[in-house]
Order: sequence, then C-alpha cells, then structure tokens
Amino acid sequence: MNNKDIKQPASALSSPRFCNMGNFMRMERIENLEGLDFAIVGIPFDTASSFRSGSRFGPNGIRNISVMMKPNNAILEVNILEELKGGDYGDINVVPGYIKPTYENIKNELQPILDAGVTPIVLGGDHSITLAELRTVAEKHGKVSLVHFDSHADINEEVFGEPYNHGTPFRRAIEEGLIDPHTSIQVGMRGSLYDADEFKKAAELGLKVIPAHKVREMGFEETIKQIKERVGDNKVFFSFDIDFVDPAYAPGTGTPEVGGFTSYETLKMIRDLKDLNFVAFDVVEVSPSYDSNEITTLLAANIAFEFISILALRKKNKK
Ligand code: MN
Ligand code: MN
Repeated sequence: MNNKDIKQPASALSSPRFCNMGNFMRMERIENLEGLDFAIVGIPFDTASSFRSGSRFGPNGIRNISVMMKPNNAILEVNILEELKGGDYGDINVVPGYIKPTYENIKNELQPILDAGVTPIVLGGDHSITLAELRTVAEKHGKVSLVHFDSHADINEEVFGEPYNHGTPFRRAIEEGLIDPHTSIQVGMRGSLYDADEFKKAAELGLKVIPAHKVREMGFEETIKQIKERVGDNKVFFSFDIDFVDPAYAPGTGTPEVGGFTSYETLKMIRDLKDLNFVAFDVVEVSPSYDSNEITTLLAANIAFEFISILALRKKNKK
C-alpha cells in the first residue's frame, strides 16, 4: 500500500466502534457480491434485549475465536471453500439505542446480498434483528418456513409496551405475513413462564412447538423427522438463538435457561437438517461479556460453520 492510500479510521459518530473488527475464519473481506454463494454478515444490535445486553459484541467475539475453524467438515465430508465462494461482508451499520432506523439499515444492506443470490449467514445481535432479516428475505423469496431453535418462543404481544423487542419477532413475522406458521417449527423451549398458555398461544398462531422436554422424551431422531415433515421442500429461514444450548455449554448469553442441549447434540441436530432448503441463517444472542473462556463464541462459530457446510454439501451433491 502506498502511504497516500492510507485512509482515516471509521468515525464512531457514524459507524459504531464495535462494528467491522475482523473477518470470520480469516476469510477474505468481500465487497463485490457477484458470483458469491454465501456472506457472513454481522448485525451487532442489542438495544432490544430485555435482561443482560452485550450481544453487540457477539459478531466480534465469534469472529475472534473463529480463527480456530478449519475449512473441512469431516462429518459432512465437504470443504466449504472448495465448494463455495464467499467471505466476510462485515457488519451492518446499526444505530445503537434505536430499533427503527436499525431495521431500515438491515433491510437496505441485506437486500443487495439477497438480490445477488448470496445466502446470508448472520451473526447477531439480539433476536429482534431477525424480524428485519425476515422482512428482507420474504421480499426476495416470498413467505418462508421458519426453523427456530431457542429456549424461548419469542412470540410475545409486546414487551415493556413495545412491539419490537427480542421477545416479539416471530409474532410480528406472522402478522406481517413473512413466515408461514403452518410449515414453521420452534424447538427447544423450556424454563419458567409468565404465561402458562405460551405453547397454546404458539399453536393458536399456527406454529408447531417442540419444547426441550419433548425432544428428550421423543429422542433426537424423531425430532428431526418432525422438523423435516413440517417444512417439507419449502424455503427455510433457520434462526438459532444460542440460549437453545444449555448455559453450561453456552453461558455467554443474555437470558439463559437451564436444562438445554449440549454443544455436541446441537451441532448434530443442525447437521441432521442438511437436506432442508435453507435460504438464510442467523445465530443470535451471543454476549461475550458473560462468556467463560470463549466457549459460547466458539460454539457459535462452529454453528455458523455448520450452516456454511450445509450449503457446501448441497452444491457438491448437485454436481
Ligand atoms: Mn430468541
Ligand atoms: Mn432465547
């Protein structure tokens, strides 16, 4: 680089200083979307967290530890960067403290990615961001099926009197016609509730819920079978809240619930969904300040890697 090409650093008056701090798996930073298959996209927004905030540092934490990842997925027998073209697209400029302008930015910045036929792998951020992702995905693909792994259903009417919060995105997504509840499924719900009828309310919205205890009762094979039957060949948005995982394995999150899944069980479940027709993915609610020895961020990096591996496998099988 010539000295005269050195630019000023980004100003934190327009771009939050927790944005764009490194690249996932030390992949290339991409700007030109043409011909790409996937893009890692950070959305470091945590204003809509109801308890511990801090997931604004999620994308950065996941990227930091993702230097541990290698490109070969030995179980799916695929090398992600041999099959696919992609890289790290950096972060969407969020507006800390302000959800509506953040939603606008998410839409404006995700749209060209989807229009270019590139599959986004989003690193959150709290779960409120998924509504804006779904708005953009639905505009491109029409109503999609949702596969939602979480310890919470996130279908509240409102939280603190507000319609947009990390506890409300999937009710809003159904109201706005972004997802087809009748082919969508929520898995892993558990913990104490304010509303004893929460699962009934999900059913009233048309959603199918498999709470964590049912996964244990039925077994993983049956759970996977029911997810596949539910979504069929539809286009699928996979939204993964890290609190699906037991806090013993993923403590770095804002609203933890005990009695969850191990990291191995989690990765296996994701891999077992490899035949679904995914059009977008996110992994959200990773909050590094509550993490221990980067175990949560490392798991989230592996989850994103499994997502990319599924895309790679699909491309490989098409050959
Ligand atoms: Mn959630
Ligand atoms: Mn949750």
